Amino acid sequence: MPELPEVETIKNILKSVILHKTIAKVDVFYEKVVKNDLSFFKNTLLNKTILDLERIGKYLIFHLSEGFVIVSHLRMEGKYFYYQNQKETINKHGLVLFTFTDQTYLEYNDTRRFGMLKLTTKDEYKNLPCLKKLGPEPSNVLDFNKLFSILKRKSIPIKAVLLDQTFLSGIGNIYADEILFKTKVHPETPANFISLNKLKEIVKVAVEVLDEAILNGGSTIRSYKAGIGIDGNFQTKLYAYGRENQPCLNCSSPLKKMFVSGRGTTYCPKCQKNPNSPYILGITGPIASGKSSALNYFKENGYIPISGDEIVHKLYQDPKLHKPLIRLFNESVIKENSVDKAFIAHVIIGDGHKKYKLEQLIHPLVEKRFLEIIKKTKKDEKIAVEMPLLFEAGLDVFCDETLYLDVNLKTQTERLSKRFLSVKDSLKLNQGFNVQENKKKATYIISNNNSLEELYIKLAKIIRK
Ligand SMILES: [Zn+2]
Repeated sequence: MPELPEVETIKNILKSVILHKTIAKVDVFYEKVVKNDLSFFKNTLLNKTILDLERIGKYLIFHLSEGFVIVSHLRMEGKYFYYQNQKETINKHGLVLFTFTDQTYLEYNDTRRFGMLKLTTKDEYKNLPCLKKLGPEPSNVLDFNKLFSILKRKSIPIKAVLLDQTFLSGIGNIYADEILFKTKVHPETPANFISLNKLKEIVKVAVEVLDEAILNGGSTIRSYKAGIGIDGNFQTKLYAYGRENQPCLNCSSPLKKMFVSGRGTTYCPKCQKNPNSPYILGITGPIASGKSSALNYFKENGYIPISGDEIVHKLYQDPKLHKPLIRLFNESVIKENSVDKAFIAHVIIGDGHKKYKLEQLIHPLVEKRFLEIIKKTKKDEKIAVEMPLLFEAGLDVFCDETLYLDVNLKTQTERLSKRFLSVKDSLKLNQGFNVQENKKKATYIISNNNSLEELYIKLAKIIRK
């Protein structure tokens, strides 16, 4: 979708090619795109000369002779094509074709047909409801207190507010993600959590981001032909948008994608924390290190417990997962309409590739469920999440702090001897758990080789009041 920088670029290109041209003929191939009586639109435009072009927000304004004005919005896929030769014209998505007296052409082209053209006058156009209700452009905010008072009344996500053209005009999905990334604001932060200073920073960064994009000719220039001779290269400079799963350019954590008010949103969960989210402690450690005991302790101390194993257990009960599991293993993976966990354990002990594939399948679903729980949890609550593969699954990025429970082989062997799998198999299952890497990443390391009482004394020190 063309955003402010793209529309600015189109305006500049069109200015260089159609200024002072006089309209000799108007063909409309799709009537709904014209928001006037069709014959009025066609007849009035005859013999009018294009005097100037203006951009307001994402609207393109054509100033014509005799005080007439065309207001145009490209919406999703609108484009302008300029042709010097009739042979090139009439693309099947061309909706309106202007023929100039010098036998050059301007075509409004729109595969999605959501765009619009409205003929009006110099005195009237700024009063059109679509233009009248536009908020200031970031580069033109004169009254921050007024803008802040609007923000304070809204509890919807800040990203939705930035996309609302009555608040600020000209910010679309791409640049909203960029601005929030650069200001380290979580896209779902309720708007009324943003301070006046943060708002000022957001607007300042918005100006920088949009100016840089304009300078580079608009980032989507390659996907549409805005006329001639423009080579946009802003794509390479995007920090957030379109970079899902790629490392954050600040902290190297993989960027995540979610939907905010229905719009795809890329952000860094580590750099962009939501101040409205609860405190989250991630608990991990090798097999038999006492993760469940620790989780219990935190539960008894007021934390909301989340168990990774329990999430997986619930996932396994969802029939939707049975098909992909059968594809990965075979029919035996389902026993009496539920997943045979012992069968899975048995197979993946001997098959590292299958284990990897299983994790690829399960981890995103666990993440989804985990985020759903966080969303339902209030700011003043605390969450403790116990996850054997917390770091491997990349869920640590959502945690405020992480706890690594350390255990020696002797204790591990003792504890495992009481479980249903053989000690050897249990330890094998734990292969691939990267002790050194995980210890490096953890906020706290607590060794748990003795009694439960001793563990609790150590855990008490990291309880958050
Ligand atoms: Zn980051």
